[in-house]
Amino acid sequence: MIKFCNSCGAAVAYRIPEGDSLERAVCAACGHIQYQNPKIVVGCLPVYGDRILMCKRAIEPRYGLWTLPAGFMENHESAPEGAAREAMEEANARVEIEYLYTVYSIPHISQVYMMFRARLLDPDVSPGVESLEVKLVAEAEIPWDQLAFAMVKRTLEHFLADRRAGVFVPRFGDIRPPQR
Ligand SMILES: [Zn+2]
Repeated sequence: MIKFCNSCGAAVAYRIPEGDSLERAVCAACGHIQYQNPKIVVGCLPVYGDRILMCKRAIEPRYGLWTLPAGFMENHESAPEGAAREAMEEANARVEIEYLYTVYSIPHISQVYMMFRARLLDPDVSPGVESLEVKLVAEAEIPWDQLAFAMVKRTLEHFLADRRAGVFVPRFGDIRPPQR
């Protein structure tokens, strides 16, 4: 929840502005409305031969679990630029972003993941500060029981099925909170 106006610093109140349909943080002093919208996470599935680049996370959440290079998109960059930047930051990996592959909405945390298929240009990879370890894994070596996120599992499953079928199909879907 937002508490203070980022324009004048006064307290905000949540209410529905005229002409709107959702509650927003509205400043009582200056009238400024602070909109909050989903964040975009961009990443890639870098492939070298028949192997996939994976990273073991050195940060929370999901410390010590395996993921594909991905992170929050920055201002003033394109989605593919962000995906390539994350591969460099997390694995010192030079990639060529090729195709948009999976898009997952995660409504309960207001995030959208955009994952690209990418060609790893050089197999000489090493952990960046956010990774404990990076590895080029064959299908049989994927650590299925130690994956960090549902989107990683789903993207890998689609990729392996598409590779077997010989045709890659972009997909989208929703990821909902785990059932308790
Ligand atoms: Zn204000």
